[in-house]
Amino acid sequence: MHTRVLEPRQITILTTSKCTAACRHCCMNSSPERSDTLTWEQLEKILSQAFTDLRLKLVIFAGGEPMLLGNTLYKALRMVKSHGLATRMVTNAYWASSREHAQLKLRELEQAGLDELNISSDDYHLDFIKLDAVRNAYELALTMNFSAVVLANCFGPESHLTPERIRREFGTADMKLRFDDDGATIENHKQKGKTLVVLSNSPVQSLARGCTEMKPSELPAALTDSELDRIGDLVGGCPWAIRSAAISAKGHFVACCGFEVEDNPILDYGSLDTHPLAELVDKADNDLVTNMIAILGPIKVMRLLQRICPDEISFPRGYRSYCEVCFDLVSLKQNRDALYRHMDEFVEVILAARNLVKQTYLDKGVREYPPLRITADLSASPGPSKTTPIADWRG
Ligand code: SF4
Ligand code: SF4
Repeated sequence: MHTRVLEPRQITILTTSKCTAACRHCCMNSSPERSDTLTWEQLEKILSQAFTDLRLKLVIFAGGEPMLLGNTLYKALRMVKSHGLATRMVTNAYWASSREHAQLKLRELEQAGLDELNISSDDYHLDFIKLDAVRNAYELALTMNFSAVVLANCFGPESHLTPERIRREFGTADMKLRFDDDGATIENHKQKGKTLVVLSNSPVQSLARGCTEMKPSELPAALTDSELDRIGDLVGGCPWAIRSAAISAKGHFVACCGFEVEDNPILDYGSLDTHPLAELVDKADNDLVTNMIAILGPIKVMRLLQRICPDEISFPRGYRSYCEVCFDLVSLKQNRDALYRHMDEFVEVILAARNLVKQTYLDKGVREYPPLRITADLSASPGPSKTTPIADWRG
C-alpha cells in the first residue's frame, strides 16, 4: 500500500439518494422521488477494495436514508465489523414510529455490528418525521450496547426544535454538547463500558436544496469578511477533503459528504463500476484543485481568485462555513472555469506544501497530520501540533 498525502481515514457510504423525507435544508438533495441505491454486489466490491487499499478507521453509512437498504445494510455492517473497523449510521429514525418496531430494528443494528447511532432531528425533519419516533429510537438505543448515540440538530434563528429544547425534553445528565458557543468542537471522550451520548448542535447551512428552499430569515447571519478570514487562517486546509471521502449512491468515489458532489466536475473522481478504488483515490490525491481545497481551504482559494481574477468569478452571497464557500467554488461554472484557467499559479505552493507534509509527517510514519499553516505570501509551515478544535466546523 503506497503513501498518499490525501489518504481517506474514514469513508461515508451514501447508500441511497432515496429518503422517506425531503427536508428543505438537505445538503444531499435526497427525497422519496430519488432512487439511486448501491446494490450488495457494489458494496461488497467497494468495501473489499477499501479494506485492501486504504487504512480506514471508520465506515459511516448515510444517505438518503440507509435503513431503506434493509438486509443489504446489515450485511455491509457485518462485513465492516469483521475487518475490525468502527461503524456509524446516520438516520432520520422513520423506522421508530412505534416502540416495538424501534426495538426490533435497533436489535438488528446492534447484532449487525453498529457502533454509533446518529439520529438527525430538527425543524426541517419534523415536517416528515415525528419527534416521538426520534424519542423512541433515542431512548431505546440508550438501553443497548452502542458505543455512542448522537442526536444531530441543525438550528437557525427561527427554529422551534433547538438544542436547548432537545436537552430539556430528551436530556439525560450524561448528554454532552458537540460544539461550544464559539462553534469550536468539544472533545468528548467515551468512558469504558458506558454509551457516549452527544447532542450535535450545529447552525444550519445553506447548501444544495437549502440554497433555494430556505428563507434568508431561517439562516444564521453570514460571517463578516474578517470573521471568514479568521476561520480560514485558523482552520487552514479543509481537513475533510479526501481524508473523509465518500461513495455516492451511484457508486462514484467523491471527495466528501459536505454536500451532494456526485457528478461535480471537480469533486467526483469517477465510477467504481469501471475503475478500481485505488486508481480513483490516486487521481483524487493528485488532483490540483482538490489539493488547493485540502491544503489552502476554500476561503483562501476564494480570496486568491478575488485577487488574481476578480472579474472572472462570482461569490454572490454571504457565507457561514467552509462548505458554503466550497459549494459556490465548485458548483458555479464561472468559478470552475476561473479555477481551471488560473490553477497553474497554485502549482508551486501546492507542491511545496505536499513535500512539507511528506518530510514532516509521512516519511516518519505519521499518517494523520494537522492542516498546514499557509501564510499570506503562500509559504507553508507545519500546522499546530493538534488539529485546531474548530477544524470540526462541518458538524
Ligand atoms: S436531511 Fe436527511 S432525512 Fe432529510 S431529506 Fe436529507 S437525507 Fe433525508
Ligand atoms: S469544504 Fe466542505 S464541501 Fe468542500 S471539500 Fe471540505 S468538506 Fe467537502
